[in-house]
Amino acid sequence: MPLIYRAANMVEAQLVVDELQSGGMEAHITGSYLSGAIGELPPSDVIGVWLLQERHTDRAREIIEDFEASRKLPAADWQCAQCSEPVGREFGACWNCGTSKPFV
Ligand SMILES: [Zn+2]
Repeated sequence: MPLIYRAANMVEAQLVVDELQSGGMEAHITGSYLSGAIGELPPSDVIGVWLLQERHTDRAREIIEDFEASRKLPAADWQCAQCSEPVGREFGACWNCGTSKPFV
């Protein structure tokens, strides 16, 4: 049973499991019961998502890559196309020149 993903927290782990299940794969989360007990370790070393069927590993990795990409895109800072100013993700327009955030 391969370890397919190290999650930063339980919510993330569960989201990965949901993605895998919607792709027809079974996965287990391990380590969640330890999260309150091990104060010294970062959670990512504790929470793992395990794929039940090893033959699905390649497909599962693709799903997880898509999942990570889709989570990162909306959260990224962006650069103004007009004046090249870096703009925080929470702004819909450039604070410097007022140009609207481009659609990705
Ligand atoms: Zn600008």
